[in-house]
Amino acid sequence: MSELATRVLNGIRLVVGGQSVGLHEPVFSGNERAYIAECVDSTFVSSVGTFVERFENQLARITGAQNAVAVVNGTSALHAALILAGVGPGDEVIVPAFSFVATANAVTYCGAVPHFVDIEEESLGMSPQALRHRLKEIAIRNGDFTMNRETGRRISAIVPVHVFGHPCNIYELLDIALDFGIAVVEDSAESLGSLTADRHIGTFGRLGILSFNGNKTVTTGGGGAILTEDIELANLARHITTTAKKPHAWRFDHDRVGFNYRMPNLNAALGCAQLEQLPSIVDSQRRLYERYSQIFHAVENVRMLKEPPGCRSNYWLQSLVLDASVADERDNILDVLNAAGVGARPPWEPLSRLRPFRSSPRGPLSSTLAMAARIINIPSSPGLA
Ligand SMILES: *Cc1c(COP(=O)(O)O)cnc(C)c1O
Repeated sequence: MSELATRVLNGIRLVVGGQSVGLHEPVFSGNERAYIAECVDSTFVSSVGTFVERFENQLARITGAQNAVAVVNGTSALHAALILAGVGPGDEVIVPAFSFVATANAVTYCGAVPHFVDIEEESLGMSPQALRHRLKEIAIRNGDFTMNRETGRRISAIVPVHVFGHPCNIYELLDIALDFGIAVVEDSAESLGSLTADRHIGTFGRLGILSFNGNKTVTTGGGGAILTEDIELANLARHITTTAKKPHAWRFDHDRVGFNYRMPNLNAALGCAQLEQLPSIVDSQRRLYERYSQIFHAVENVRMLKEPPGCRSNYWLQSLVLDASVADERDNILDVLNAAGVGARPPWEPLSRLRPFRSSPRGPLSSTLAMAARIINIPSSPGLA
């Protein structure tokens, strides 16, 4: 066991105690049971019921978004949001190479191709410099469209990702998107409760999405949501996620190929109870960061990933960053932690290296490749604070 691995294990033990701990576990300490029982008793457990609307209203209030549309998961939220942003077959969508596979998958579901750009090391989000540089290289205006002159494809959206809950440099990215006339869809799946300049993440782009998977800050079992200021887009989001059925008392008329993506009432019931606890969950996640950071401040060659200036992160996943000089010890540290019952994980494999995306277009990705090799996500459950 390397000395660094021992120091990392001991540091985590000081915070989480001696027991086995997972990477991120939900807490159900509010009205979860009561609302689920109420939902079951009502018999409206599926695609009709009052909890869905209540959940959407709660989400809109919390995020300040004009509209929130609840769906079955974050991936389907992203798929629908991309369609609503105008992404279609044969297009290209700019995506950071450092994200969960769902970001690139959703682009592919639209018949489009992800085009990878690099991240910045501070926030782990899409790098404005890399984006501007890449677009200057490849983008050309063609009427109302922006094309990739190398591939001949239309570039129809940019999808910044707020990684581990930390807001990316969204204002600069929006400026660049505006300069090049490209829509922004925020993948804020991990960022419920995170703010930039007091504004909730996911409300900056034309559309934003959230995930309520079991390992996220707040869970509905499985779930997601689309956020947008635009009421017409919100109505269209509701329409295409409910099989594009035209409202009618009894007729089955569908005006396009839609999706069965709406969130069931049972999941929304869980979500309503979870959202009531969001402030205390985020407080716990932030306190946990403070404790880790006090300890790892004194450990050489590692640091905790910190929220960018001017932002308030929900600290969804706590991340240790190894100095580049000790990056080759990363997998050994992961072995030691997991063998000791401490749920620790490497971050995602860069999307540009995954089999389905190996031939996708890309800019230089040096920061993505470097940071993906230097990070360890450590136990992050709010219950640990
Ligand atoms: C979790 C996640 C998603 C997808 O959410 P699901 O609810 O699991 O479908 C998309 N993007 C990112 C960055 C995520 O972390």
